[in-house]
Amino acid sequence: MDLRLKNKVVLVTAASRGLGAASARRFAEEGARVAITARHPEKLTALAHTLTQETGAEVLPVAGDVTQPDDIEQMVQSTVERWGRLDVLVTNAGGPAAGKFLDLKIEQWEAAVQLSLLSVVRLCYAALPYLLKNDPPQRGSIVAITSLSVKQPVDNLMLSNSVRMAVIGLLKTLSTELGPQGIRVNAVAPGWTRTERVEELMAARAVANGTTPEEELKQQAAAIPFGRMGEPDEFADALVWLASPRASYVHGIVLPVDGGTIKASL
Ligand code: NAD
Repeated sequence: MDLRLKNKVVLVTAASRGLGAASARRFAEEGARVAITARHPEKLTALAHTLTQETGAEVLPVAGDVTQPDDIEQMVQSTVERWGRLDVLVTNAGGPAAGKFLDLKIEQWEAAVQLSLLSVVRLCYAALPYLLKNDPPQRGSIVAITSLSVKQPVDNLMLSNSVRMAVIGLLKTLSTELGPQGIRVNAVAPGWTRTERVEELMAARAVANGTTPEEELKQQAAAIPFGRMGEPDEFADALVWLASPRASYVHGIVLPVDGGTIKASL
C-alpha cells in the first residue's frame, strides 16, 4: 500500500531513540521529509545523517526540550522554514517519573504535566496554524504517542496513568473541533516495546534481582498474549499508517499497539 506520504513534511518530537526514532525512520522510508527533535544535538544530528544515508530522505535535526515553550516554537518554525509547510505532527516525550501516590511529590506532578500534557498542548498550538494552511479536504494529521496506561492503569505508574488521560481528553476534544477543518487527530498507545529505555529498565531490574536482563524480559512478557514485547518497528508501522492520508476516515481514536495486553473489551 502506498501511504501517500511522499514529500509530506513530518515533525516527530523526542526522536533521538526508541519509538520516536523508529517512527521517524519509517516516515523517511516512505519518502516524507522529516524533522526530528530531542534535547542533545550531537546524537540527533548523527541520527539525521544516518537516516538520510539509509533512506535517501531529507531529515532535519532540531535540538530542543519539549518542556520549554521557546524550544517548541523553534521546532515548528525550523521545520516550516526548511520546507515551507507542515503536514504531520507526531508528539512524543520521555515518560513521567514512576512511583505510587504516596511516594510522589507535588513537584513531580507538576513536572509530569509539563512533560506529558503541556508539551502536547504547546505543540498543537504551534503546529495548527500551518496545518490549517494546507489545502482541504485532508489538511494534515496529529498523532500523539501515549501509553497503554490510558486504557488500563499500570501499577506503580501513577503519573502516567493520570496525566496521560488528560492528553486523551485534549485529543478527543480536538478531533471534534478540527474534524470539520480536515485535520485528523489520533493517539497511539504502546504496550511494552523493546526500546533502549526498556532494555535499560530490564538491566537495572536484573542487577537488583540477581537475574539476567533476558530473564527479566521473559518475566515481563509473560503477561502479554504474544509472550514477547513489541519491536519499535512494529509500533512505527502502526503509527505511520495512522498518521498517513491512507487512514483518511480514522479520527479521534486511541490505537493500542500492545500485542493484546489491554484486557478491556474490544
Ligand atoms: P526512550 O526513553 O527510549 O526515548 C525517549 C525519547 O524522548 C528520547 O529520544 C529522549 O531523548 C527524548 N526526550 C525525553 N525527554 C525529552 C524532553 N523533555 N524533550 C525532548 N525530548 C525528550 O522512550 P521510548 O521507550 O521510546 O518511549 C517513548 C514514549 O512512549 C515515552 O513517553 C514512554 O513513556 C512511552 N511508552 C513507552 C513504552 C515502551 O515499552 N517503550 C510503553 C508505554 C509507553
